[in-house]
Amino acid sequence: MDILIKNAPALLPEGLSGGPADICISGERILSVGSVPKDFIPEQVIDASGMLAVPGLVNAHTHAYMTLFRNCADDLAFNDWLFGRILPLEDLLTAEDCYWGTLLGCMEMLSTGTASFLDMYIFCGSAARAVSDCGMRAVLSRGLTDSAGEDPAGGKRRLTDALDEMREWGNVPGLSFMLAPHAPYTCSERYQREIAELSHDTGVPVNLHLAESDAETATILEKHGCTPTELFDRTGLLSDTTVAAHCVKLSDGDIDILARRGVSVATNPVSNLKLANGVARIPELLGRGVNVALGTDGAASNNTLNMFRELAFLGLLRKGLDADPTAVTAAQCLSAATAGGAAALGLDSGAIAPGKLADITLIDLDRINLFPRNNLLSSLVYSANGSEVSTVIVSGKILYDHGEFTTIDRERVLYEVNAVCRRIGTINE
Ligand SMILES: [Zn+2]
Repeated sequence: MDILIKNAPALLPEGLSGGPADICISGERILSVGSVPKDFIPEQVIDASGMLAVPGLVNAHTHAYMTLFRNCADDLAFNDWLFGRILPLEDLLTAEDCYWGTLLGCMEMLSTGTASFLDMYIFCGSAARAVSDCGMRAVLSRGLTDSAGEDPAGGKRRLTDALDEMREWGNVPGLSFMLAPHAPYTCSERYQREIAELSHDTGVPVNLHLAESDAETATILEKHGCTPTELFDRTGLLSDTTVAAHCVKLSDGDIDILARRGVSVATNPVSNLKLANGVARIPELLGRGVNVALGTDGAASNNTLNMFRELAFLGLLRKGLDADPTAVTAAQCLSAATAGGAAALGLDSGAIAPGKLADITLIDLDRINLFPRNNLLSSLVYSANGSEVSTVIVSGKILYDHGEFTTIDRERVLYEVNAVCRRIGTINE
């Protein structure tokens, strides 16, 4: 469908447009920004008066199905959280449960302005089905682990499943795939090398968790005699198509490695705070030219998939920690949530510019908390909370229209998710 969005200023790669920037969408891509080509006849005109057009946000690290575990494992130490609560609950889930959980995640992301995301999950096919059903854009990756070498057969099976999934879903529009060695402490060195080789041979990029906690650093040092970053570098997993989530516990040498290899870092400020893992070295990474993207992580450790909350934390954390209000700027935050995320995920989106995929979010500026309009960039990072998102377009299709989902049966998803939670015992009534 050809769409004209008119009367809204836009956040462009070069900054905010001075006045309204008419955006023409032809099919799945942006045709023009600024003036309307003479021969362009839109099938739909969106009068976006009072709104701001921004690139559809990119959530560069999440586990969408984990919305099922929202608010049921809080205020726990990391090991109690993961091994005591989350993993036993995961054992109760089916692929169908994860389909509904992923759709709930998609609803939350769309309603807070996110157009695309990088997902890591435990059942092949569930996320693919949910994402293709709702029309979002996603990079999908089945989490791969061989239980640090204790379960080589399971590791092999997961890898085979992941490759089968890519073959089955690889040609579906809006979907692409990565290989996801889960973490340095859950994958043996041998398994890491196997995945790295496969990635090199097939060109499928790598998505992984890295340097999330002090415990991880200590475990890897004891077992392998190096830092987690050095281990992943040694096994060949770090390249310019790799997305590394968290990256909180980095030495200067680790930052050198990430910069040299061209790795993208998907930072997760709220999850790192929630699990008391600390604050990532974002100014240092940006200073070394590392591409920084922004992600929410799963709802079990956040507890939302709302990128606006993430933006605020990214902007504020290092200011407070370093007593330096210039540590991370609003523009750097927005870049991480848009162009930086798209670059990390290998997507031709993340910017409102001719030729780019038409992933666009419209923000309602007529909100008390965004008034007066002194500085729209600051508004997005420091004042907005996500509730101002009015409309989300993905690949030229309107998926969220003035607060209504166009492709998702809201009530059905809520009903099914409730049923799952009752069955696994996280809801007791
Ligand atoms: Zn994660």
